[in-house]
Amino acid sequence: MNWEPWTGCYKASEGCTNCYFYGPYGKRYGQNTIQKTDEFDWPIRRNAKGEYNIKGNKILATCFATDFFLPEADEWRKAVWAVIKERTDIEFLILTKRIDRFPVSLPSDWGTGYDNVNIGCTVENQELADYRLPLFLSYPIKRRFIACAPLLEPIDLMPYLHGVEHVTVGGESGREARECDFEWVLNIREQCVKANKTFWFKNTGSLFKREGIVEKINPFKQTAKSKEFGINILNGQKLF
Ligand code: SF4
Repeated sequence: MNWEPWTGCYKASEGCTNCYFYGPYGKRYGQNTIQKTDEFDWPIRRNAKGEYNIKGNKILATCFATDFFLPEADEWRKAVWAVIKERTDIEFLILTKRIDRFPVSLPSDWGTGYDNVNIGCTVENQELADYRLPLFLSYPIKRRFIACAPLLEPIDLMPYLHGVEHVTVGGESGREARECDFEWVLNIREQCVKANKTFWFKNTGSLFKREGIVEKINPFKQTAKSKEFGINILNGQKLF
């Protein structure tokens, strides 16, 4: 289940180049305009009986169609942190390409972090891994994962894996997608095995290279195809 308290985004780094915000959807809906949605306080809205509209014991993927740490959302984020604090029965999964903005608008009672917040730092290449991950590990966050998506080259995550629970890897989708090489995916998986971390190959991307052969993969088949390899290490972990 997703919760998008605001909409709109713009490029932060290499991995954003072919983000669908820049494609036909962006043109149609004006996705570069950052604006609050009508779901802004959705997790704490109640029905006529006074019960929350969203039941507890859920994972809520938060800001997966925008970025939680956009500067334009600095003020709004204060209210959203309060929503997150109230719903201790929901795990909020936040994925960002702007982890360096994490300290901005952090609640005063954040301390070592809220238990129900799991933050994913996206790194698409080695340069960004080496910039973002030391920052990511230095912040007070209780639960962390790394998302190599879109994976654009081989990445050495070993220096950082000690501080995270999980790694997700995925290729880039779309007509202009850049290649994702299965060797890079397997290499990251191997690092996770060594570091005893869970691993999820979430999709192949549209241009998937394996044993030197590049194949175009239909967007609707990319997740099923990645699953076919049977390389996920999930240890019963629930994914969104
Ligand atoms: S940060 Fe995410 S949502 Fe924003 S442009 Fe980049 S890929 Fe798209």
